[in-house]
Amino acid sequence: MPKVIIAGAGLVGALNACYFAKRGWQVEVYEYRKDIRTMKHVHGRSINLALSQRGKSALEAVGLKDYIVNQGVPLYARLVHNKDGKTFSRQPYGQPGEHIVSINRRHLNEVMITQAEKCDRVRFFFEHKIRSVDLDKKELVVEYIGGSKIPQPGKKSESPQLRVSADLIIACDGAYSAVRRSLQTHPRFDYHQEYIAHGYIELNILPKNNDYALEPNAFHLWPRGHFTLIALANKDKTFTVTIFAPFEEFEKHMSNPHDVRQFFQENFPDAYELLGRDHIQDMFSRVKPQSLVSIKCSPHHFSDFVVLMGDAAHAMVPFYGQGMNCGFEDCLVFSEILDQMSDDIPKTLAAYTENRVKEAHTIIDLAMYNYDELKDLVNHSSYKLRKVFDLWLNKLLPNTWIPLYSMVTFTRIPYTQVVEARRWQDRILSRLGSVISATTLAGAFVLAVHFAKRSGKLPKIQFG
Ligand code: FAD
Repeated sequence: MPKVIIAGAGLVGALNACYFAKRGWQVEVYEYRKDIRTMKHVHGRSINLALSQRGKSALEAVGLKDYIVNQGVPLYARLVHNKDGKTFSRQPYGQPGEHIVSINRRHLNEVMITQAEKCDRVRFFFEHKIRSVDLDKKELVVEYIGGSKIPQPGKKSESPQLRVSADLIIACDGAYSAVRRSLQTHPRFDYHQEYIAHGYIELNILPKNNDYALEPNAFHLWPRGHFTLIALANKDKTFTVTIFAPFEEFEKHMSNPHDVRQFFQENFPDAYELLGRDHIQDMFSRVKPQSLVSIKCSPHHFSDFVVLMGDAAHAMVPFYGQGMNCGFEDCLVFSEILDQMSDDIPKTLAAYTENRVKEAHTIIDLAMYNYDELKDLVNHSSYKLRKVFDLWLNKLLPNTWIPLYSMVTFTRIPYTQVVEARRWQDRILSRLGSVISATTLAGAFVLAVHFAKRSGKLPKIQFG
């Protein structure tokens, strides 16, 4: 049986381990962190995530979908909180019943590691840091960082550094991928990264009277122009709250306890009450805003033995809730192509890059677009009108007119086709708009002539 090495046991690495366990391959996973199942606190990114159709389909293929979805909280609409702290508006995500699921990152990761480990051909090596890939020798250079004694992975020396090889190496080592760094030293590997001006800090709303303090089945949003606050419910009746703001704004208005309190009171009065003054001040004194990066690269594979997936291939800003979903879909697409190519690795790698690079670049751009939507656009009446109109048309023509958000979130339509479909919709609406304006103008003209004739005020036109 072929052997695969997976770099990183985060969300995408752990899911890939499940896929290759199912395929019957030998699997070795090298992860920088300790086994998260044994840790008290796991530092890292967002506490919860929105799981949607692409992620669900990928989990379904390894038999985990129902279990994971049942551990989450369904979200059916955005609830936009106004600045008065009392009123809000509701924007359904799709047709009745369509929803995304708020799930706990750590729990999801743990479940997938445990599932993969059930197969005795899968071995996880925690506290092993990938240093680089030796592209000539086709070896991964790994360092054991846990202590003096190295565990088992076919080690060749007593040094904490070891070299491991396999038929296939899958890099799932995140946005700052060490594997990708090695590929970047090679000619004709394109790479582009962009930090946005915004950073984020996470806070927590505790249960109130043993129940959710806000409506649990909605994505709560406090859009305030260039900064925004969001809240997603957790199964334990808490909410994870995230503030996204430019680093400048954090420095100017949230750098001391008095300012941060005033900032929250003024901009998010209802959230302020639920978060509590002490919690906000405590978090802002201990935690620094984290940055958000968008990364495009091409190709997604190297030679006949390395492939990049998840954030290692396509980190994106989190505003479409697609980073993990797209990374999970990577695993599914790769597996589908391996099936089509009868496990021929070189052919699969070439076909995968051909298919996936353009898809990844498209969702990275869409996520940037949604950044504007969440900050501000949701407040505009033209945006709200379009949303209502889209859903209305979708109800009338469910297979022909699917709103942009629904195509991204509730289907597996390739992202590139989603964008084409949206352009087509925009063209139709703009033509419809022109026809309506022309008809209205013509109607107004006929009426004006009619009334002018009746009142005798119509100017006489003389010829010759
Ligand atoms: P990671 O989760 O980063 O995992 C990489 C793993 O590799 C880690 O375990 C790390 O320890 C390990 N590693 C790193 N370097 C090395 C090394 N040198 N050697 C060995 N191991 C290494 N996505 C969604 O779909 N929905 C959401 O709602 C959503 N919300 C988000 C909110 C925020 C604030 C952020 C920042 C992101 C959000 N995302 C969301 C994106 C999502 O978090 C990522 O796309 C996802 O975590 C990518 O998974 P990954 O396994 O590729 O990378």
